[in-house]
Amino acid sequence: MTRRRALACGAAAFAGASLRCSGSWMDSLLHLGDSEAPAEVFKGGAPSEEVWALWSGRSWVKEASHYLKLGANVQCKVCPNNCILEPGDRSHCRNRVNRGGTLYTMVYGNPCTFHVDPVEKKPLFHFYPGTRAFSLATSGCVFRCLNCQNWEISQKMPEETKDPSGPEFRLRPPLPSSLTYEDIARVSLFPDDVVAVSKALGCPSVAYTYSEPTAFYEYTYDTCRLAREGGLKNIVVSCGSIEERPLLDLAQFVDAAHVDLKGFDDETYRRLNSGKLEPILRTLKTYNQMGVWFEVINLIVPTYTDNLESIKRMCGWLVDNLGPDRPLHFSRFHPEHKLDHLPVTPIDILVRARDAARSAGLRYVYLGNVREVADAGTTYCPNCRRPVIERDVYSVTSFQLDAGRCRFCGTPVAGVWTA
Ligand code: SF4
Repeated sequence: MTRRRALACGAAAFAGASLRCSGSWMDSLLHLGDSEAPAEVFKGGAPSEEVWALWSGRSWVKEASHYLKLGANVQCKVCPNNCILEPGDRSHCRNRVNRGGTLYTMVYGNPCTFHVDPVEKKPLFHFYPGTRAFSLATSGCVFRCLNCQNWEISQKMPEETKDPSGPEFRLRPPLPSSLTYEDIARVSLFPDDVVAVSKALGCPSVAYTYSEPTAFYEYTYDTCRLAREGGLKNIVVSCGSIEERPLLDLAQFVDAAHVDLKGFDDETYRRLNSGKLEPILRTLKTYNQMGVWFEVINLIVPTYTDNLESIKRMCGWLVDNLGPDRPLHFSRFHPEHKLDHLPVTPIDILVRARDAARSAGLRYVYLGNVREVADAGTTYCPNCRRPVIERDVYSVTSFQLDAGRCRFCGTPVAGVWTA
């Protein structure tokens, strides 16, 4: 046990610890005892009084859920980083601060980006194909992926992506015909607004995506709950690094998830993502046990995650623990962020990974970011092997299912096809 962790346990046990979530603080302490050392945080990184006043004035701050009070310190229990914050500190994910012994999120109702996307772009290939999802993100992330495609928002503080000056601008119907970057920087989009805007735009789903919904957990949770009440579907696109209790709370409102399984050993997770493998595997099993539809993506990064033996072990684990019907998307790496010196993933490695996954028993295996392979996005019937869904990137070009069954032989194809 590290000195820091010992202090955390001791402080919690003897200084009247309390936990802002369902369940007892004793459970949480037991869990803390099993965890690694908390992640590094931004010491003294909380915003100035002036900035806080502006942020509060917009209602963009909210007391966090799932945290421990450790005297004047707090410990977040949303993700396995388990940040411990002294007063005035900012969290590893950049979105949470300790003010006066209370943990606050700073990204409530203030997404830094939102779009209407085809559900195939998440990617989800077996969930209401051809429909659209109102997709949003705030700043911040629980990981530090060297290859992050969205580092310009995921590795930023809320104050670097939003501007609370000027008149308040709350986005809700009737919608303006266009928005400027300045509008988006100051926009408020609270959970009930998200539901109303999604409906106004004809989107049957809301997707929490682009950066990391775990880092904007409270906003995600409240919006998921209202979206479910409003008859919309919720799609969570996540790295999967989340503690079990917040996941269980959230998953009851999740209709579909896309989980990044970024590699299959701890060393790679540590070097490439600053994360750990075990929590991701636990998240996959939890979604599976809860009956939430989800698909798995694995980005093949040259020299990091392109080892075929490791890919085979990963596929074997997926079949053994989640069954053969779980879709797996291998995605092609393009030079990004801190790995812009690496080449794109060679096509033959992607094809060999797909062959290995099929040999392991997975029935639905796809290649993403690949135009060179004609059937990269094709779904085949697991029985007669005919193509039942064909796609051109994010567009469905042929659909041969009737009520989720192959139109040629009647075999069910796993997925969520009709309301
Ligand atoms: S969600 Fe953010 S504040 Fe909470 S433990 Fe994870 S990184 Fe730390």
